[in-house]
Amino acid sequence: MRCTPEARAAALHDIDTRRLRRRRVPNDDRQVNFCSNDYLGLARDPEVAAAMASAARLHGAGAGASHLVSGHSTEHDALEHELAEFTERERALVFSTGYMANLGVLAALVDRNDVLVCDELNHASLIDAARLTRTPHHLRYTHADAGAAAELLRSADSALGAFVITDGVFSMDGDLAPLPALAAAARARQAWLVVDDAHGIGVLGDGGRGSCEFFGLGTKEVPVLIGTFGKALGTFGAFVAGDGDVIELLIQRARTYIYTTALPPAVATATRHALKKMRLEKWRREHLHSLVAHFRDGVRQRGLPVSDSSTPIQPLLLGSEDKALAASHRLGELGYRVTAIRPPTVPVGTSRLRITLSTAHSVAQVDGLLAALDQVMGDDAIVAGASVHESVTGVVA
Ligand SMILES: *Cc1c(COP(=O)(O)O)cnc(C)c1O
Repeated sequence: MRCTPEARAAALHDIDTRRLRRRRVPNDDRQVNFCSNDYLGLARDPEVAAAMASAARLHGAGAGASHLVSGHSTEHDALEHELAEFTERERALVFSTGYMANLGVLAALVDRNDVLVCDELNHASLIDAARLTRTPHHLRYTHADAGAAAELLRSADSALGAFVITDGVFSMDGDLAPLPALAAAARARQAWLVVDDAHGIGVLGDGGRGSCEFFGLGTKEVPVLIGTFGKALGTFGAFVAGDGDVIELLIQRARTYIYTTALPPAVATATRHALKKMRLEKWRREHLHSLVAHFRDGVRQRGLPVSDSSTPIQPLLLGSEDKALAASHRLGELGYRVTAIRPPTVPVGTSRLRITLSTAHSVAQVDGLLAALDQVMGDDAIVAGASVHESVTGVVA
């Protein structure tokens, strides 16, 4: 883009004409939030918040430096040990965000002599991470098609190292990666399977250990496991878990680990409390899954276009940007916050309401949302996709 006001105006105008202008809307406590990633209701948990507050009084507001200088506190250390034990891996390493974990891990482990075999719907941070590796061998397979992944692995030059990279639970669709088949394909080619389980940790598996627990896979099948704290754990930050030498290599080489300020220790403390509650308070997962089942019964009875997802991510596919925006706007008026998700976050033509359920919801609130969907989905504007976008997006002329 040229450095002129005209070029910037043209770029913004282009975003507007494609109905892709995004607006940040501060939370309104009068609305019930059905689009956060706080699946277990831990972000607002009083005990977790109190742990963070008292840790901040003790350790201060920030880490003061990167991990390798003087920012690595006993709280980070304890959290890493607890995460290693929890994920049943030798070691875990705390990163400041999941985005940075993905960039750091792939850039540290992958070089030009490796082939990357990636699901086409992987999270944006994994796509950027793949680019950062600078390998020219960046291949994508049809979403969740393990056979296609295996074929790409087989046809790649056998002199190259190989990595299979996938979300555990897909963030915009809520479906699971076919991990057992991907693990088998990876094993046949001596490839590493890297799983970003941002939306599985805390939610899936009896013990909340995520997609790997759900499918009964260990560190042999999934040597690199990435998880985030900002989703089900309700705090902020991320981790990578694996064998000791994998983690040691990341400490030495992952630039997004080395050259950034460590997570505030109080966030590490809060995450330790959240992890403990997530493990001990099984009712959180049980209530969540019963809400998912209840919601799915409701949408099926109504014949709504819900996807095939058994996780708390329950997108309603509406197709056009206008429809998704109009539906989101109407739900907002009825007291429900459900953000419309549009390209480039999702493929063109698959704009949607990404409805997410949380332990913090009651059955009555889910029934309220279903009743609101009844009204909204019958609306002419939504059915026909009428252009109410001016009022919806508040387009700046
Ligand atoms: C949210 C998310 C991330 C990024 O994690 P942050 O800690 O929010 O940076 C990475 N991968 C997936 C699949 C995610 O959903």
